[in-house]
Amino acid sequence: MTATLIDGLALSRQLRAHIGAQAERLAASGCRPGLAVLLVGNDPASAVYVRNKVRACEAHGLHSVLETHPADLPETALLQRIAALNADPSIHGILVQMPLPPQIDAQRVIEAIDPRKDVDGFSTLSAGELVSGLPGMRPCTPWGCMKLIESTGVSLRGRHAVVIGRSNTVGKPMALMLLQAHATVTVCHSATPDLAHHTRQADVLVVAVGRRGTVTGDMIKPGAIVIDVGINRDPEGKLCGDVDFASAQAVAGWITPVPGGVGPMTITMLLSNTIDAARRTLPD
Ligand code: NAP
Repeated sequence: MTATLIDGLALSRQLRAHIGAQAERLAASGCRPGLAVLLVGNDPASAVYVRNKVRACEAHGLHSVLETHPADLPETALLQRIAALNADPSIHGILVQMPLPPQIDAQRVIEAIDPRKDVDGFSTLSAGELVSGLPGMRPCTPWGCMKLIESTGVSLRGRHAVVIGRSNTVGKPMALMLLQAHATVTVCHSATPDLAHHTRQADVLVVAVGRRGTVTGDMIKPGAIVIDVGINRDPEGKLCGDVDFASAQAVAGWITPVPGGVGPMTITMLLSNTIDAARRTLPD
């Protein structure tokens, strides 16, 4: 079997065309959706991520503000900037790029963002809404993974989904979204013995570890949907995921590539959350 590629770039293009049209309609009614992106420090990977987010806003008719701050920015100064953006009516979404330098408490910063502007969906309120099955801001990466799975046309109801990774930003919300879509969900992590025993039972396998070669073809159930969230570099310096693509493609039914899979969808869902946040500010 050779897996069908789930093309995150193509799906993103399709969804972003719709997002662009929505942004235009909102702007015509006097509410141009606006995103503020805050970067603290000079981590080169973070700089690339924020630049891509701002460019995506510009390309789809959203207003965007990029604030860069030095690595020694005191926490109080960052909290003051967030308070100002919370009060700014031209800003509907606030994203603070992680990781933050050690003098800044990331959770305190996340909680300082007005929940209506929490487009990353990382606040405890957004997490609680997800746990409770209530509408709210959904974390962009797992939400993008859900869209990728949806694009295969395979229903999740009654399927066994296995998630590797339990971070607050990817693994845990991913598991909750799969559960909400009526999958039977197993969550694996670094203390899980015999990872392959679990992955071989997965109709849907989502891998969010951050380690190249975590999953190989012999660990995959024939015909499974494999979503690779990981971003790593191979020994030649080329971007790769957590899944050994060549061996996995020979067994899986569907698979996302890295790059061109989950990555573009993360930014697409960020734009979508910003549009939704802007729409909610309009009178009914
Ligand atoms: P993270 O916070 O470091 O979490 C990694 C998870 O993997 C942890 O839950 C850890 O378990 C688990 N893990 C580590 N080694 C393992 C092993 N040998 N077997 C099973 N589980 C293991 O990372 P993250 O933020 O969730 O991100 C995961 C990956 O996705 C990274 O490569 C990141 O760059 C990438 N990512 C990509 C996007 C995108 O847009 N494409 C967005 C976000 C993240 P413990 O909890 O037990 O430590």
